[in-house]
Amino acid sequence: MSSDHSIRIAIIGGGLAGATLANTLLKHGHLDVNIFESALENGGPLTDVIERAGGVTMTSSRLCMASGPSAMSVLFDLAAEQRGKVVHRATLLAELLKPLDAAKKHTNKKLNRIDDAENGPIKLHFDDGTTFDADAVVGADGVRGFVRNHVLGKDDPAVPAKPAGFWDSRSLVPLQKAKELLGEEYFEVNRQYGWVGDGVFFMHDVLDGGETVQFVLCGMMDEEWGEGEWSKDLDRAAVEKAVETWTETPVKKSIIDVMLQSADLKAFTEQHHDRDAPTYSKGRVCIMGDAAHSMTPWQGSGAGQAIEDAMVLETLLEEFKTSGELTAAFKAYDQVRRPRTQKIVHSSYGTGLIMCGRGEGIGLDIDKIREALPGRWAFIYGQDQAEHKKEALAALKML
Ligand SMILES: Cc1cc2nc3c(=O)[nH]c(=O)nc-3n(C[C@H](O)[C@H](O)[C@H](O)COP(=O)(O)OP(=O)(O)OC[C@H]3O[C@@H](n4cnc5c(N)ncnc54)[C@H](O)[C@@H]3O)c2cc1C
Repeated sequence: MSSDHSIRIAIIGGGLAGATLANTLLKHGHLDVNIFESALENGGPLTDVIERAGGVTMTSSRLCMASGPSAMSVLFDLAAEQRGKVVHRATLLAELLKPLDAAKKHTNKKLNRIDDAENGPIKLHFDDGTTFDADAVVGADGVRGFVRNHVLGKDDPAVPAKPAGFWDSRSLVPLQKAKELLGEEYFEVNRQYGWVGDGVFFMHDVLDGGETVQFVLCGMMDEEWGEGEWSKDLDRAAVEKAVETWTETPVKKSIIDVMLQSADLKAFTEQHHDRDAPTYSKGRVCIMGDAAHSMTPWQGSGAGQAIEDAMVLETLLEEFKTSGELTAAFKAYDQVRRPRTQKIVHSSYGTGLIMCGRGEGIGLDIDKIREALPGRWAFIYGQDQAEHKKEALAALKML
């Protein structure tokens, strides 16, 4: 327990998960919240990259078939009114961290050791040789974070996030050139397009304030990917091979042309996911956000689940006025958050298979895709959050 008799919470990682938790815990006077970020600024390097990429708000999203008997048909449109609000990540992070006292925001602090004595404080060690004593630690340190090793034990097979089995490749093309290669009609409105192909998904949207088109080709890894291989150069033959089984359409030809606009086209296996972690907590240490449940991006749920983690942790930590029962709080958190987030990890993977035309029993059948896809988001968006908080408190009572 910290000297002023408040509970001293150390949050490791200043990304969306850590920043949201810090912000939400601030209103509870009995919690002394400190946040530690390895980067020079809270928010981490990823934020800068995404911000520099320059976002354009899409007015809608259209999913089409690129291969099979219904090639070139529209599967469905997601209209703008269904997309909710769009915020810039860096702005959101800055707003979340603004209310936190500057002395509680520790940047350039990379955690490298946790000494968790049974009695007394948990001692955190950082790369710069400094230490910090905490009553509880929340690892919000992302997909390659350190705290996950501590919670699961470094030998647990669930520790390293695994490549999910997809590769993706990006090509950035000036808008005018993209119009020439793909056709003017795809740029009449700011619309994101997704194309379900045979073993490969193709998407495009406009970046850089409208000047550049991002093309993404995403496929299933096959036996040509060696163990541990995480990137490959893609030449014309490789792109042609990726789409060789597709139905011949103008889009198939355009894909090859637009992807090869990139001088050094590469495919990466950066889509990782953490499946089946046996726990999200160990004593007074827990993990949240991507550190607990990194997932493929197919259902756009990673950030949303980090925010739900923060909501449940706040609900539970609010209950305690002393540090003695923190273990119970984190156990209850694990009990309610793990099943839900792991279900989404699996669902997101399955959605990726469908988007790549490889859904089991679905393939490239347009009617089956129309039936299978929309419902996959219902359990994510349909959750009653007030009930979820009650569930967490009920779990706590049962311990
Ligand atoms: C291109 C892309 C698109 C996405 N689109 C969506 C979407 O549409 N919807 C959605 O919900 N989600 C989306 N996601 C997922 C979402 O961005 C992540 O799930 C979310 O940002 C995870 O936040 P986090 O705070 O858990 O992890 P991170 O953002 O990775 O933050 C972890 C932080 O911990 C720090 N750190 C790491 N190790 C240490 C250490 N040892 N000591 C101290 N600090 C450390 C890092 O520097 C970093 O700042 C997308 C992700 C990407 C990459």
